[in-house]
Amino acid sequence: KSYLERIKEVEPKIDALITITEDFALQKAKEADEKIKKGEDTALTGIPVIIKDNISTEGIKTTCSSKMLENYIPPYNATVVEKLLEEGAVILGKSNLDEFAMGSSTENSAFKTTKNPWDLSRVPGGSSGGSAAAIAADEAAFALGSDTGGSIRQPASLCGVVGMKPTYGLVSRFGLVAFASSLDQIGPFTKDVTDCAIVLNTIIGHDPKDSTSLKIDKPDYTSYLKEDIKGLRIGVAKEFFGEGIEEGVKETVQESIKVLQDLGAEIIDISIPYVEYALPAYYIIASAEASSNLARYDGIRYGHIAEKYEDLIDMYMVTRSEGFGKEVKRRIMLGTYALSSGYYDAYYKKALKVRTLIKNDFEKAFEKCDVIVGPTSPTVAFKIGERANDPLAMYLADIYTVSVNIAGLPGISIPCGLSDGLPVGLQIIGRHFDEGIILNVAYAFE
Ligand code: GLN
Repeated sequence: KSYLERIKEVEPKIDALITITEDFALQKAKEADEKIKKGEDTALTGIPVIIKDNISTEGIKTTCSSKMLENYIPPYNATVVEKLLEEGAVILGKSNLDEFAMGSSTENSAFKTTKNPWDLSRVPGGSSGGSAAAIAADEAAFALGSDTGGSIRQPASLCGVVGMKPTYGLVSRFGLVAFASSLDQIGPFTKDVTDCAIVLNTIIGHDPKDSTSLKIDKPDYTSYLKEDIKGLRIGVAKEFFGEGIEEGVKETVQESIKVLQDLGAEIIDISIPYVEYALPAYYIIASAEASSNLARYDGIRYGHIAEKYEDLIDMYMVTRSEGFGKEVKRRIMLGTYALSSGYYDAYYKKALKVRTLIKNDFEKAFEKCDVIVGPTSPTVAFKIGERANDPLAMYLADIYTVSVNIAGLPGISIPCGLSDGLPVGLQIIGRHFDEGIILNVAYAFE
């Protein structure tokens, strides 16, 4: 009840949520009380959560912040939602995002722009900006987001909260509306590193409904929450401090690295040369996969359908013209172009080759170090409207995050200080399935 009060108080200013599930939440809270009374409670019983609106919730609208799915109510839960409900977590609502998770500011939402709680004239980042802002504004204890090319870590950084993208395949994608299937991964937003470990414990695990989810032993991530990082080798890549980084961000991150060194870690200079090409490779691969994934919105199966049309082809065209926003159309066109015969080799295939080179670079770097640290975002939160009409400037917000998705690695963003009064995020990247070591470093720093 107190979180619902808080939502009512701050939502008119923050606009983090698309749907508030008040009745459902109160019913689930009652059930959680019963569980606790019977002594059947687990770590997340009764804990309030907000879910990004591209993750399916049975009986609750899942819009992807698109007119295409404005009234879509899924008949099933995503596996992550099922896992949270089993533990007795209380869903308070669904959060705003850039349409179909394409963007870095939530300005591409068809419904509203979320404001950064630190400064209401600035963006919260994106695409999971609603989830990040909701946690920063205390609208829930934790939230879920999705990260295809930084969409958990970058908004976490801009809103001063913890956000983690797990290793590709660790968390089931069943029920996550597909953007770029080889990159998408669900992960938590929390206030601190301990909560991140607790939520991760619940959401991971093999799922027969997602053929890319992996069978691994489930560790207890809270066992990694130790202060000791003595002798741990921390890699710092010069490529993560290149052109375009704000001086204040650079200084804050460098001071944080000094803190890690003072805690006993060994700082090692490394290089990831091909990371220079991560951004163009990402925008080709992600758009190519998106153009294919979004073909399903044809007006027939579900979602928006045009009222007036002449024939079948016209129905597709009118439906898709009306249903999709500008950025989504841009990605579909880019992706279709990159995949079309004659251009496939020059763009899509080339991007896949670059993907392999970047993966190899990380593998080589991880021979010398245990984790890699750097800034999450080159800048602090920018002003609403500042980049809205300049897609390339918007894409640059992802310069330090996309390579992690390209290589399928786990990464976290934790708050590490302020620049001009706005939060700066420290990104910690690990080897595949080294979430534990990442959490160890994050906890020691915190
Ligand atoms: N900014 C990236 C994009 O627009 C982020 C996508 C994501 O991680 N969902 O593609």
